[in-house]
Amino acid sequence: MKKNQPYSVLFDPVKIGPVTTKNRFYQVPHCCGMGHLRPQAHAAMRGVKAKGGWGVVSTEEAEIHPSSDLAPYVEQRIWDKRDIPALRLMTEAVHEHGALAAIELTHSGHNAINLYSRIPAMSPVDYPINFLYPKQARKMSKKDIADFRRWHRNAALNAREAGFDIVYVYAGHGMSVAQQFILPNMNTRSDEYGGSLENRIRLTRELLEETVEAIGDSCGVAFRFAVDELKGKDGMQFQEEGKAVVELLAEHPDLWDVNVSDWANDSKTSRFEPNEGYQLPYVEFVKGLTTKPVVGVGRLTSPDLMASLVKKGVLDLIGSARPSIADPYIPNKIKAGKIDQIKECIGCNICVSSDNFSVPIRCTQNPTMGEEWRRGWDPETIKPKITDQQVLVVGSGPAGLECSVQMARRGYHVILAESKKELGGRVLFESGLKGLSAWKRVVDNRVYEIQQKNNIELYKDSELSLSHINELGVDNIFLATGSSWRVDGVGRSSREPIKGLDKITVLSPEDAIKNINKLEGPIVIYDDEQGYLAGVLADHLSANGCNINFVTPASVVSPWTDSTLEQARVQRALLKQGVEIICNKTIANGDGQSLVTQCVFTGNKTTIDCKTIIMVTERIPNCSLYDELIKQEEVLGESSTKHIKLIGDAEAPGLIADSIFSGHLAAENFETPEIEIERAIYMREIPSLK
Ligand code: ADP
Ligand code: SF4
Repeated sequence: MKKNQPYSVLFDPVKIGPVTTKNRFYQVPHCCGMGHLRPQAHAAMRGVKAKGGWGVVSTEEAEIHPSSDLAPYVEQRIWDKRDIPALRLMTEAVHEHGALAAIELTHSGHNAINLYSRIPAMSPVDYPINFLYPKQARKMSKKDIADFRRWHRNAALNAREAGFDIVYVYAGHGMSVAQQFILPNMNTRSDEYGGSLENRIRLTRELLEETVEAIGDSCGVAFRFAVDELKGKDGMQFQEEGKAVVELLAEHPDLWDVNVSDWANDSKTSRFEPNEGYQLPYVEFVKGLTTKPVVGVGRLTSPDLMASLVKKGVLDLIGSARPSIADPYIPNKIKAGKIDQIKECIGCNICVSSDNFSVPIRCTQNPTMGEEWRRGWDPETIKPKITDQQVLVVGSGPAGLECSVQMARRGYHVILAESKKELGGRVLFESGLKGLSAWKRVVDNRVYEIQQKNNIELYKDSELSLSHINELGVDNIFLATGSSWRVDGVGRSSREPIKGLDKITVLSPEDAIKNINKLEGPIVIYDDEQGYLAGVLADHLSANGCNINFVTPASVVSPWTDSTLEQARVQRALLKQGVEIICNKTIANGDGQSLVTQCVFTGNKTTIDCKTIIMVTERIPNCSLYDELIKQEEVLGESSTKHIKLIGDAEAPGLIADSIFSGHLAAENFETPEIEIERAIYMREIPSLK
């Protein structure tokens, strides 16, 4: 990129100790549910980031010893030399594109349950394990500390042998023993490793010095440090000890990677933190205290902000986890001046949830994420069409939009029909709710691409029936007709409709929002789905002045949002807005203008007043058009040549991410031999039995 171009500063090389990154785009460590169990998938995923232009590509946490065993979570592992070949797959994939590979060495202290290794966990002091598991970590003795330092040094040497260019010392997220030693509320030791801040950072200082001594001649040594825990006086604060740590260790590492702790604060969702760069106020002081380069994060996607951060001397390197997941090609797009093509992270944390479910990473915006090895997918390229074909896509929700875009990218002629005046399906509704406006990017990015293409014919305000489809005479039809919320109460808890609701207004989520100014209280939201939507509705309606009773068989509000690190924030928001939360109760039946609720444990019944109930229980796939088409085909029998595919929520209601994936998969699989489709389904990494 030429020097005078607005973002050229982002493509300056930066020295990190003995190594140099070709540009300022730095993919900081992030979990991906692949780790040591899926090394080929891991290498391919990181390789795509490097291909997309990131100057540095890091691993997730890498366990350095069996006493830091994170099972059932799947992270990276560098216990001994036998882990080197799997790790080398990643460094080679990253080096192939001229990027540097970084590894985050981690001992998790009391954040490891050691369920596989069965070694007692260790911590600065006796301390409960940081998971709901009735176990405690034991206090580390002097020998344990010496052992830990030796393991860390060995892991650094092994990391270098595996080809890593940057090796981390990690003190962040409440997930590392080095940080646990630093934090005064955790470390109450009375020896030279406890007490004063000097003492509490002793271990980190030793780790930094020993890592530099072991590999510092050829690898950069990075220090990931959480400057603030966002707990006020009850935790580390960036103006106080956070700053003092940076002062005391300023020149020790070759790179400062700074953020806030814990993970829920570092990876805050857009629902609770709409601002890009939200961590900057906490970390901008760091550069003033060190001559070493500084990397910081905060869902940074805008090239203007990135360039200004570098020019103003706030950061040297633009750190990214989620934006690099949503669009691995951000650096190349900026370089090529294709800013309008950046797929912006929507801050939904579906990526985070996959790690929490110990499955390979997935992303709402980027359906290829996690499928680089298994299916050979890449976000920017898709195989070309096989023959000249016309395809019809019915419905423009996430499934229909993604399918249309990818079919058009393949070179097919696409007709996209949508019954509503606006494209976007469920995303239009959901992104209009409190906190979810960033979700609209899922639609905006795809509609923008559709507008650039000359092989997509678009018909809005066009509800298609069987006869319309027959008139169009298209042989390939993708039905992305979505799903509808049930209003009869059938869901997880009951397969029978709730009876006795004739004197109560029963509404779907969409109808409730449409009639927001006319809702008659008392209003009950019944959340038997237990995902995110009912909690969002309660938040939205109560913020708009409605008094809400939230009834759920779950023991907390929106339990699924635990996986996206949001549950505590959801519950706090509802409580603060005065929502009455009634947990552990199903709705047994209606009785006049009352609801009879039933305790899920005792069966005891209680009555609450209700004039309006909003049901969030289950969705019905909108597949009647599909059924009609299939019936018609059955009549034609063997003479039929039509390709008819149900996709997205119309096939099986799920997350927006599932619909995007479904649309992408359908486009990939079109005109693909069945044997190839099956091969991808059965692909997995089978351990060698040596
Ligand atoms: P998904 O998540 O699977 O994409 P959505 O519910 O978001 O599903 O989107 C489905 C879209 O399909 C909606 O915008 C809806 O208006 C549209 N749709 C449903 N039936 C028809 C039809 N017969 N003709 C055209 N559009 C339809
Ligand atoms: Fe961003 Fe959501 Fe993708 Fe994660 S899943 S990278 S939060 S868009």
